[in-house]
Amino acid sequence: MDRASDRVIVIGAGPVGLCLSLALAQDDIRVCLIETLGEDNFLEQVPRAGTNHPATLEFLDRIGLYDLIEPRGIIAPLFHYWDRHENKLIAEFDHIHLKDDTRFPYVLQCERIKIVEEALKLAKAHPNIELRLSTTFTGFEQDADGVIAHVTNPAGEPEKIRGAYIVSGEGARSIVRKDLDIEFEGFTYPDRTLNIEVAYDFRKHGYTERNYISDPDEWSNLFHWKGPPDRWRVHFPTEPDEDPEALQQPEALQQRLQRFIPTGHDFEIVGSNLYTVHQRVAKSFRSGRAILAGDSAHVNSPIGAMGMNSGIHDAFNLADKLVKIFRKEAGEDTLDRYARQRRHVAVQHTQAETMRNKRVLAEKDPAVRKKNHDQLRRTAEDPKLARAFLLRSSLIESLREAEQIP
Ligand SMILES: Cc1cc2nc3c(=O)[nH]c(=O)nc-3n(C[C@H](O)[C@H](O)[C@H](O)COP(=O)(O)OP(=O)(O)OC[C@H]3O[C@@H](n4cnc5c(N)ncnc54)[C@H](O)[C@@H]3O)c2cc1C
Repeated sequence: MDRASDRVIVIGAGPVGLCLSLALAQDDIRVCLIETLGEDNFLEQVPRAGTNHPATLEFLDRIGLYDLIEPRGIIAPLFHYWDRHENKLIAEFDHIHLKDDTRFPYVLQCERIKIVEEALKLAKAHPNIELRLSTTFTGFEQDADGVIAHVTNPAGEPEKIRGAYIVSGEGARSIVRKDLDIEFEGFTYPDRTLNIEVAYDFRKHGYTERNYISDPDEWSNLFHWKGPPDRWRVHFPTEPDEDPEALQQPEALQQRLQRFIPTGHDFEIVGSNLYTVHQRVAKSFRSGRAILAGDSAHVNSPIGAMGMNSGIHDAFNLADKLVKIFRKEAGEDTLDRYARQRRHVAVQHTQAETMRNKRVLAEKDPAVRKKNHDQLRRTAEDPKLARAFLLRSSLIESLREAEQIP
């Protein structure tokens, strides 16, 4: 192999592409990382993920990222389920129950944008990573010897980039997945979710840093992010036919927040956006030398904070396998194991959990609501049940289960 083709082409400097690139580079594998955004607009991305589960923190620590993001985030050992209808705390879960399972018995509330900002600095400094910003991937070809990525470079010219493998970390609209004609199986919820960012300390009403709030009329999520100034993100469902502009008018946002917590004063609203939620998993995560990871392979509702976390878990699983292939310690069929393991997690864990979470929060039947809440309460109060619940909600169980898949 010539030097140009003896490397991995990673498309997308999102959390998944960056983690994969750093893990490979730190294991002496050369990477060409292609990102459409440039220095001028990389940080102008809409607010998204931010809850980092314990197992993810262990992975981020492995590539030297944890120490950089911890000071920019909030350590949150607790999370809450609330009943908005009754204005009552249903259950408080404490990650301390995982103290023998992980070095990080808490989540770190640290937004995706801070993670990619810090990871990008590490990528820029690493001699094994050729970072191509302002470069848009447009398609690819592959044969038995390698892959060729087609890109439009910063000068607007078409260019071809050679590599041994191509990994799509491009997010949900993956061109690699579409070029391979891989079905993105699943569905899209008809309603959109409204995200409002507020500078207001909700802890004075009993909330903790991370809250899931059930209500038959208007369920909600409430999360705390480090500033300055500190912000809280509140999610509300909207009706499918509501006008997006009307929904985000300042008065409409204030009214919604006042319905949620009547303070009598205007909230300081820092921003808002609307997003559509998809529950989809690619039918296959690999075709020859092309591999899908993160949102290009699976997307899900943010309720439960599993999208970015499970995508980062994909990245590390894949990095370990690619390293073995380059070192000739494993054959290419190990990539099929990656696909089996991570697809299993996407279907059986992230899809199943996030859909269940939404059902629990939005449940309308009073008898079912009561049953759900009683079960959450009992689970939180019993240390054994609480640990089992947290192992699943924090995706540790998914990693353990994947290890058993041949
Ligand atoms: C409101 C909201 C809240 C969320 N909260 C959480 C949470 O708390 N926890 C959690 O785990 N997940 C959460 N998620 C999901 C999470 O944001 C995604 O799962 C995660 O960002 C996926 O990472 P990724 O690297 O696969 O893709 P992305 O983050 O989408 O990154 C893809 C990258 O590829 C680049 N790119 C795209 N196309 C091209 C191209 N053609 N050429 C070159 N570059 C390209 C993009 O510019 C981008 O930088 C949330 C999502 C939303 C919408």
